[in-house]
Amino acid sequence: MGLTGIQIMQKLPKTNCGDCGFPTCLAFAMKVAAGQAEIDKCPHVDPAVKEEIAEASAPPIRTVVLGSGEHQLKLGGETVLFRHEKRFENPVPLGLRLATDMEEAEIARRLESFRRLRWERVGVDLHAEVLALEEVNGNKDGFLSLVRRVREECPEAVLVLISENPGTLSEACDLCGEHRPLLYAATLDNFKEMGQVAKEKKAALAVRGDNLAETARISEELLKMGLKDLVLDTGARSVRELYEDQVIVRRAAIKKRFKPFGFPTITFPYRCARGYLAEAILAAVLIPKYAGMIIMSDFRADVLFPLLVERMNIFTDPQKPLVVEEGIYPINGPDENSPVLITCNFALTYFIVSGEVEGSRVPSWLLIKDTEGLSVLTAWAAGKFGADTIAEFVKKCGIAEKVKHRKLVIPGYLAGIKGELEDELPDWEIIIGPREASGLPSFLKEWKAA
Ligand code: SF4
Repeated sequence: MGLTGIQIMQKLPKTNCGDCGFPTCLAFAMKVAAGQAEIDKCPHVDPAVKEEIAEASAPPIRTVVLGSGEHQLKLGGETVLFRHEKRFENPVPLGLRLATDMEEAEIARRLESFRRLRWERVGVDLHAEVLALEEVNGNKDGFLSLVRRVREECPEAVLVLISENPGTLSEACDLCGEHRPLLYAATLDNFKEMGQVAKEKKAALAVRGDNLAETARISEELLKMGLKDLVLDTGARSVRELYEDQVIVRRAAIKKRFKPFGFPTITFPYRCARGYLAEAILAAVLIPKYAGMIIMSDFRADVLFPLLVERMNIFTDPQKPLVVEEGIYPINGPDENSPVLITCNFALTYFIVSGEVEGSRVPSWLLIKDTEGLSVLTAWAAGKFGADTIAEFVKKCGIAEKVKHRKLVIPGYLAGIKGELEDELPDWEIIIGPREASGLPSFLKEWKAA
């Protein structure tokens, strides 16, 4: 168990000087206990106490940082088993395998897939982050030239470097410069040498045991060597083992505070699943349960996109709806004769509605009313999207200065408030739009034709 706010406060100087950016030591202690502030922000705590507090308040699964600069990636940092207790923190990075025994054309295709397969959804940029480069049959020169090439062609990719040879990984690290890779992997036979390389190069190190017990043993030995940033591969050979191992590792770290398992995991679904579809399904299971990183044998758009959307949904805060800002959104270059539509600020609603309006090619004004992230009907039921609040927003948002007409299109689901809204906005004609956003293109085309 971590320390409570009161326990942390007792270890602070209690001078309420405010140097940490909080008005009192208690306020600061509560934030540290909640994981929302770092103990380092108080410059007056004794270093030994600081270390004790940092250790006690650290998440049970360590946050491991890879990459560099704007392409930095965090794994782990998780504190709960279930998303309804508290949000999951760091989205599981998805990676693509590249190996030295692949043909040049195949490597080029994979690099191109990595760069090209990205989408925007509800304002979020969805893409994979990791390239896992594997040395096959001791092809050191091929491996090093692959590392060099990937660093040049895909500098945004976070790298997992896979080799059985610590010397090769050491040279590969030198090619990465400031970029911090994950070295794969320390085994029972080579953990001392691998641990030494990871220490010298300040790289993160994967542990690969043959089973859970062996993984714990290697992890323990590396902890004794002073390594802190580990990532675990439990050596699972079947779908069932892989799934069970993820759950056991997460439970042991969170419920028992079992240190050797207090790290994110790395998984390779293709090593357990038969066929690409089975691999994709397994990856979909591992996103919520509880992979720290997933490396795929290949990327196909029809598999990667749903995995990215699933990840986005799992790693959002269930207590905070995704929202967009209240305001007037011009779409397709509207003018003073263009239609005016209104909807709520739930991000999914906004992106679906704006996408349909954009697809219609009809220049339009889209008014987004702050409904605290609630969807149209929920917001109406909660009193946040009724005639009075819509009217107040329409009057103050400035749309009347942008258009000559006075016609407002409301969502079809709000047909029942038409009369009330006409009373609130006597200068405006209220038009009932389609119930579903998919009806907007034909609706707007009719408007244009009228
Ligand atoms: S800087 Fe330290 S001593 Fe000062 S208010 Fe913050 S916690 Fe208290």
